[in-house]
Amino acid sequence: MPDLYADFVRFFDAAAAYSDLDPGLLAQVKTRNNIYRMHFPVENEHGRVEVIEAYRAQHSHHRLPSKGGIRYSTVVDADEVMGLASLMTFKCALVEVPFGGAKGGVCIDARNRPPEFVERVTRRFTIELANRNFIGPSVDVPAPDYGTGPREMAWIADTYRTLHPQDLNHWACVTGKPVSLHGIPGRTEATGLGVMHGIRAFLEDDDRPGEGLSRGLDGKRVIVQGFGNVGGNAARALREQGALIVGVGEFDAGVYDPAGLDLEAVEAYLGERRGLAGFPAARVFGNSAEILEQPCDILIPAALEHQITRGNAPQIKAKLIAEAANGPSTPRADAILRDRGIDVIPDLFLNAGGVTVSYFEWLKNLSHVSFDRMLRGTERMQSERLIGAFEQYTGSPIEARMRRRLAEGPSELDIVLGALETSMQDAYANVAELMRRRDLPDLRSAAYLSAMEMVGRSYIDLGFFP
Ligand code: NAD
Repeated sequence: MPDLYADFVRFFDAAAAYSDLDPGLLAQVKTRNNIYRMHFPVENEHGRVEVIEAYRAQHSHHRLPSKGGIRYSTVVDADEVMGLASLMTFKCALVEVPFGGAKGGVCIDARNRPPEFVERVTRRFTIELANRNFIGPSVDVPAPDYGTGPREMAWIADTYRTLHPQDLNHWACVTGKPVSLHGIPGRTEATGLGVMHGIRAFLEDDDRPGEGLSRGLDGKRVIVQGFGNVGGNAARALREQGALIVGVGEFDAGVYDPAGLDLEAVEAYLGERRGLAGFPAARVFGNSAEILEQPCDILIPAALEHQITRGNAPQIKAKLIAEAANGPSTPRADAILRDRGIDVIPDLFLNAGGVTVSYFEWLKNLSHVSFDRMLRGTERMQSERLIGAFEQYTGSPIEARMRRRLAEGPSELDIVLGALETSMQDAYANVAELMRRRDLPDLRSAAYLSAMEMVGRSYIDLGFFP
């Protein structure tokens, strides 16, 4: 069984070799704080009782609340949630989100179970978390991950609210909620959009590592493995920037067309058949893992961990691996890719867009007002004044439609997407700068080192270490 926490430790140790921090402090930064493993009974669709196994892991409490998604998958286990929780701590540090890392997992195959059963499991899981103080706006704030989305987050928020009616901030107990239930516009597509921003920042960095790819996204051939929330949104955002999506892999099949796939057709097919088998494309692979080995410029694993291993790393033809999923490359595969001169943009940076916008949602819930509400009027007044001054100075009036557009203040979505883009660009610039300044072998070492030093500094400032 692959062990995601062991991978985290190996990547951490490799980067820690470049750190001057005290070894005791590094041990604290690496270690996992808490894990709650639970079993609870739920009535299933056949009227029988089913015992559900679930987890919530908190890697670090150097900042609170801890934060991380909840995954619904039959293969979830303690090592997986611990590894994912550890990545969350580091991810938050890289994008300067003031949270510790956490992750949850529930062992169910949610896609093949009726919604009523998934709802009962979700609500009961929330009660178990609340009973042990493993959920709350100032304690631990879950979000969506593999197999979950706004629907599950709404059930969690509603259950928490029922248990804590006096808590004025109850909506801040979970992020990724539907916008109608105090969610934030842009959260659903945030991780995929962040993936695009991260890849674009890499390709526009004139001093980027490796020489395999020309500058910019325009015309780059991309393969995406996993066309769910992260993969689907990343593919659409990359296409908007001029990239060509030549391959898509799903759990049952992979499809490839060097001239570019029709993403709307892929999406519609997936919506109808819940898989890609039988999709009409230039090439179809019954063994979906084969899609990873097809020719392209950028390969984006966006499904699950351990997809690129020492078994297939020698056959990968991409020039850049963009890790949208958590832990898609094993440490051994990572070493092979480095030896082969294939660049990797690591998960802990690249998929941090989701937690960034989750942070905005949490802030919005705590302030009880949407970001645009207090801004739009002032922005409009200021723009009107500028437009008036411009018209007076030039003597030529601005056409009414253009005037309205110029004077319009930013919507909440504009504010969120602008802040997401800046966060991803700044995080990339910091990691790339550290890599060059400390002469580190790759972006993954730089991202780990940057994050561990930030978390380490918090422990020093808290007075735990001299
Ligand atoms: P999702 O459930 O929306 O989508 C995952 C997709 O992968 C599904 O379409 C599924 O059918 C497909 N898939 C499953 N097994 C596959 C296989 N063997 N080959 C090809 N495709 C396969 O999940 P998601 O939220 O998009 O998460 C995907 C990854 O991104 C996970 O590693 C998750 O931890 C990570 N991630 C998600 C978020 C988020 O905001 N949702 C944030 C950060 C990281």
